Amino acid sequence: MFLTRRQFMKASAGTMAALAIADKALALTALQPVIEVGNPLGEYPDRSWERVYHDQYRYDSSFTYICTPNDTHGCRVRAFVRNGVVMRVEQNYDHQTYEDLYGNRGTFSWNPRMCLKGYTFHRRVYGPYRLKGPMLRKGWKAWVDDGCPELSPEVKAKYRFTSRGEDDMLRVSWDTMGTYLAKAQIKIAERYSGEAGARRLREQGYPPEMIETMKGGGTRTFKYRPGMALLGLIGKIGFGRMSNSNLAMLDAYVRKVGPDKAVGGRTWSSYTWHGDQPPDHPFWNGTQTSDIDHADMRFSKLHVSWGKNFVEHKMPEAHWFIECMERGGRIVVIVPEYSPPATKADYWIPVRPASDASLFLGVIKVLMDENLYDADFCKQYTDSPILIRTDTLQYLDPRDVIKDYKLFDLTHGYSKYVQAIKQEYRERLGDFMVWDVNKKQAVPMHRELVGINMTKAGIDPALEGTYRVKLLDGKDVDVMPVFQMYKIHVQDFDLDTTHAICQSPKDLIVRWARDCGTVKPMAIHSGEGVNHWFHRTTNGRGAAMITILTGNQGKFGTGSHNWSGNYKTGIPQGTPWSGGGIGAWGAEDAFDLEMDPKANGKEIRTKYYAYGEEPAYWNHGDRGLIVNTPKYGRKVFTGKTHMPSPTKVEWSMNVNLLNNAKYHYDMVKNVDSNVEMIVVQDLEMTSGVNYADGAFAINSWMEFTYPDMTATCSNPWVQVWKGGIRPLYDTRNDLDCYVAVATKWVEMTGDKRFLDLWKFVTENKVEVYVQRILDASNTFYGYNAKTLLQSEKGWFVMTRTYPRQPFWEHVNESKSMWTRTGRFENYCMLPEAIEYGENFVVAREDVEATPYLPSVIISTNPFVRPDDYGIPITAMHHDDRHVRNTKLPWNEAKRHVNPLWEKGYQFYCITPKTRHRVHSQWSVNDWIQMFESNFGDPYRMDKRTPGVGEHQMHVNPQAAKDRGINDGDYIYADANPADRPYRGWKPSDPFAKVSSWPRRSR
Ligand code: SF4
Repeated sequence: MFLTRRQFMKASAGTMAALAIADKALALTALQPVIEVGNPLGEYPDRSWERVYHDQYRYDSSFTYICTPNDTHGCRVRAFVRNGVVMRVEQNYDHQTYEDLYGNRGTFSWNPRMCLKGYTFHRRVYGPYRLKGPMLRKGWKAWVDDGCPELSPEVKAKYRFTSRGEDDMLRVSWDTMGTYLAKAQIKIAERYSGEAGARRLREQGYPPEMIETMKGGGTRTFKYRPGMALLGLIGKIGFGRMSNSNLAMLDAYVRKVGPDKAVGGRTWSSYTWHGDQPPDHPFWNGTQTSDIDHADMRFSKLHVSWGKNFVEHKMPEAHWFIECMERGGRIVVIVPEYSPPATKADYWIPVRPASDASLFLGVIKVLMDENLYDADFCKQYTDSPILIRTDTLQYLDPRDVIKDYKLFDLTHGYSKYVQAIKQEYRERLGDFMVWDVNKKQAVPMHRELVGINMTKAGIDPALEGTYRVKLLDGKDVDVMPVFQMYKIHVQDFDLDTTHAICQSPKDLIVRWARDCGTVKPMAIHSGEGVNHWFHRTTNGRGAAMITILTGNQGKFGTGSHNWSGNYKTGIPQGTPWSGGGIGAWGAEDAFDLEMDPKANGKEIRTKYYAYGEEPAYWNHGDRGLIVNTPKYGRKVFTGKTHMPSPTKVEWSMNVNLLNNAKYHYDMVKNVDSNVEMIVVQDLEMTSGVNYADGAFAINSWMEFTYPDMTATCSNPWVQVWKGGIRPLYDTRNDLDCYVAVATKWVEMTGDKRFLDLWKFVTENKVEVYVQRILDASNTFYGYNAKTLLQSEKGWFVMTRTYPRQPFWEHVNESKSMWTRTGRFENYCMLPEAIEYGENFVVAREDVEATPYLPSVIISTNPFVRPDDYGIPITAMHHDDRHVRNTKLPWNEAKRHVNPLWEKGYQFYCITPKTRHRVHSQWSVNDWIQMFESNFGDPYRMDKRTPGVGEHQMHVNPQAAKDRGINDGDYIYADANPADRPYRGWKPSDPFAKVSSWPRRSR
């Protein structure tokens, strides 16, 4: 029964009347027989109240959108709308309907999805921190009004470049925003172009290498950062398009040059600087990153999480990890602290922070000593049998051994047609040699002699032994297979020493080694945390080497994988037959635009005018790595291909760049004050916006008015979507930000091509660009943009296997890997690697967080020959410690105490990814603040808390007790006071006070 308000009032009046006569009637009523009720559940209790409850879930309409923060999940969620307001969002339970053009279909097992963040997204959309329209910083606007004068110390102070965060932000129209940004960028490009620009930069103290890399173009001081562009291939890669093409047009206008000389901006990377990329992966497998669809985890019988937290950080896909357990898989967790996954493990191996490589080398020694490696796999698919010269530490080159040796002809196979290795590279790569045990001599090999191909060639290579070879110049050299060299290398890592270095329990080191050698399939998964530590390259190579030696690669349930950030813009992959892939959108030739909406993606002409850059150099005081060394004087460590240019414009989108910067306060205080224009595109008020000169307010995922497309590195789907509600405020799509500026450049320069670049945006036909990407990519070829959008579901990225398994072709079909040798490589013969002492997987102490000598290589191996550049071991500058390569045996290394440790800096501050956030996203959400820590409190009973939640730091209970720290006390984490929190800080500086890092102890 449902009562209207009128009926309720009527009924209430009747009840009161009944009460009034109750006294008199009570005696008689009490004697009346009970009223007969057929089905009490049908009559009682009165369930009308349920209607109120059900009504809370009533909605007028619903739509789906993609939740696409940088967490690699890309959940399609359904929003329910009432009176135009999104009341709630839910998972869509439809993965079984996902499919590809071959008829492959998804399974119910991918349901359900989402996490506590996704469920609260609408609280961010309607939340108080939303940016409600474009804004300009008051001082910066005045600076542009005054003609953008050069940044002398007085000018910086006058227009508050040195105190951006304390200046006011003014709400402006989109038109005004476009005008100011267009005008300032013309001025800045003019200022730094040509010889006059170079002179200015020299006067500002920039090294000549950084200026030379600009090729005279002022636009090369423009750093545009499309943050994690796979999250929105249209809106985010669109910013790369602007950096490439609009900035090349601007350079052509400013310098009066043609397309042959025009240069675009420097497009900042999204992956490496974050510490998101596992830097070891290119070393051992030749590709950017090895990752699987998470469904592959169910096949593992030995699942190793190394610094990876599937429980809290892979929420919608963590169930595959649970399925591994349900299917009898063994779980091992390697992490310093007793973490959430450690609670699920069969055994947890605690390890001293940053000493991981020593653990891995100790395990490799057990594998070798106990013959637990897969010898056939090592011979067929890895560099284990390749001969290394003991004098140069390089591969034995057949051109040095065999008279008139001709490289194998690889112009007809996989290397050329799939891996696109040009002949000039082929010459540089050369061939290599192995010791054939049948012929008892060194024989040449090439990169396609992998797997069955090597066996068919009748080669049986030795893994062990030392051999003497005569070179053509008459010299005799001793050579060894890589495997033999490692047998020598791991002698430093007997069980006692390994335990002494990494502090892992001895029995667990042995147990894990034996499990790795006997339980198959085995996989090691690593996480964001370990990527951020120094020397991740060698640590990661060590983890991968365990999977490689035991043959755990290229098969379901195996591998060494990493998912940090949704980095994989290579999913829309270009090929000669399909076209330029994502380049058909991001790198269309600025001066040869395709204006036909019906043109196939393959027809788009691409040209790269922009050049990539690593923001790490901005984060290193806006300088390349150049160090004055005692031995060689000024030494430039940054290679030509990576040399940054000076930063004068900094425009970021879909990322809180400043929040990501590891040296945050130095950036604010000492670096960004030299940058003339900082722009941020964001949804909410962030620290990035707080220190910006201009902020574009953009639509949320549920407000997009143009279609966008995403995919991810941890599941197999490509998805196209649009928003379902009208934008709440004066916000627009990412593409509209670029159009706002390009429109003004047309007005200011008279060149309409600035806007031609965005033709199908201004015509509201963005699906033309979506279709071009689909056409031009071998993984999407055949899909129709409208079908994908209207279907309101995901589709499969068309890859070779499902679940996607890296190196499947190499291990199952004997195809060469993407490395130099076509094999998994545990040895690195690059000259730099040899110079740094990292030709092997080596155990190196951290640059700072160690009780011992910072950055020391622990080894007695005579084939590790690092150069220390004459830098004394007492040098403390971070650059000195970073580049110095000192090799010592463990017995000596442990005697050198880190000077910081002696000063009392005796704690490791481990900063795992937060529990319910994606970087800083969701930080402003009240519910998330409450979920996040043990100090969440909606009533704010503790008046010290800044809001309904608080950051916390877990402290070892005994260490806290020893220092009189109680649960909930505020504690501070500080690093080396020589240059932290920023260079030149003083305790009396008020900014130093806000730069420290208070947390609640737990
Ligand atoms: S935040 Fe990530 S896991 Fe959570 S709903 Fe969104 S995409 Fe899915």
